[in-house]
Amino acid sequence: MSVTRHRRVVVRMCVGCRTRRETSAMIRVARRGCDVVVGEPTGRGAWICLDSPRCVEEALRGGRLSKALRMPISPARLAGLKDSLRLQGQAQYRKQKDSDDVGVGSI
Ligand SMILES: [Zn+2]
Repeated sequence: MSVTRHRRVVVRMCVGCRTRRETSAMIRVARRGCDVVVGEPTGRGAWICLDSPRCVEEALRGGRLSKALRMPISPARLAGLKDSLRLQGQAQYRKQKDSDDVGVGSI
């Protein structure tokens, strides 16, 4: 017999595509002092879809992320963020696929 544990589903809006999704399918970027940190659970933050490089592009373009975090982000920092988001996203996605077989939906 299979027992389904009741999990609280938390939904956030992606700053890239503006779609609301479960946070397990997203990655958090937050403000720490005057820097931006990927995967930071505290502070003013923004969420971006984990499995979509397009959302990262959209979030970093047009100052959406800096608007969401209410801070200026330099172009150099944005480029660095893009790299870490890509790496973090891949790592987290892989980890989740291994440990937790949650249907994120097909995109
Ligand atoms: Zn998105």
